[in-house]
Amino acid sequence: MTEASNPVQTDSPEARRYNRIRRWLGISDFGMGFVYLVVLLVTPWSAWLRDLAYRMGSQNYSLSLFMYLLLLLVIGKGLTIGLDYYGFRLEHQYKLSTQRFRSWIWDEIKGFLVGLVLGSVVVELVYFTIRQWPQDWWLLAWALFMVLFVVLAQLAPVLLFPIFYKFEPLDNEDLRRRLVMLGQRAGTRVRGVYRWRLSEKSKKANAALTGLGATRRIILADTLLDNYTPEEIEAVLAHELGHHVHRHILKSIVVQAAITLLGFWAANWVLHYAVDQHMFEQLSDFADLPLLALVSVVLSFVLMPVLNAYSRFNERQADRYAFESIARIEPFISSMNKLAEQNLAERTPSKWVEWFFHSHPSISRRLAAAEEWNRTQNAMPQL
Ligand SMILES: [Zn+2]
Repeated sequence: MTEASNPVQTDSPEARRYNRIRRWLGISDFGMGFVYLVVLLVTPWSAWLRDLAYRMGSQNYSLSLFMYLLLLLVIGKGLTIGLDYYGFRLEHQYKLSTQRFRSWIWDEIKGFLVGLVLGSVVVELVYFTIRQWPQDWWLLAWALFMVLFVVLAQLAPVLLFPIFYKFEPLDNEDLRRRLVMLGQRAGTRVRGVYRWRLSEKSKKANAALTGLGATRRIILADTLLDNYTPEEIEAVLAHELGHHVHRHILKSIVVQAAITLLGFWAANWVLHYAVDQHMFEQLSDFADLPLLALVSVVLSFVLMPVLNAYSRFNERQADRYAFESIARIEPFISSMNKLAEQNLAERTPSKWVEWFFHSHPSISRRLAAAEEWNRTQNAMPQL
């Protein structure tokens, strides 16, 4: 291997531009959502929408709350659909997408409906606790939210993901055998490996560990399975198995629980403050929903670098697990290079971009870690 002494591979101007535009798309989407919520709160519009929702919901509280959420989401979608479409066009412009316009529209509709269903459950739950236990609602709402979150994490691979993609059990005997061997060495077992038909929509490759308990599984995109060598796929599998062995999904749920608790506590504080300031008559006035949303939006923005740092820590752990489980480091390195090229990823993003936006360490860092690990292994005396 001579890569170690080579200078770091630089990114093409194309990769730089693509990632910069994607970042700005994300920032614009976030900024628009933020401004939308603020405008609703500082103008009489939220109260006006609430009154309209009451008329649509025949004065029934729960039904009117649902109508209010529906109005909020429809207007919100109207504001950001242009950005969504730009994102769709961008993927085609950089030849990263295979998705037809009709399929994209269909995905948008399905995504909206899924958001509406999940959003309604959460919102109805929150305002139910506010009305029943005005003092401790935030603690109860948090507990119920977390139950829902865990149930959803378990159901996602069998209920949510199939709404957008097709999955089938992997029928490759060689890969199955490799995974069983990897698992045996670690004293663990992943129940299922699934082929994820990503190629219907994208040229990018991806893999993930998903689910909880009986639904725990590794999903591998067909765009990866069909273009990578068995050794490269094994390296990817080993990385995903590393997430499983280190219990990263469970740990992330615990972290999520702590953050959500902070969020509900802050929401309660802000809502009380708003009622004291006579912005709303009482907590259960659902015209204050944009304020609740604003608390969660601001909190997730502030905590994004922290959560990304935590995610990168987990990714490094999973990478290290892969280094230790596979026979040779080279397939890991070549799989990373292939992924970077196929996904038009930035190998060397600027430091602050990586710090703020990236849930994974940059490819250049992951490659450097692999080579460093290989060096120390070769330097070890053979016992
Ligand atoms: Zn990972």
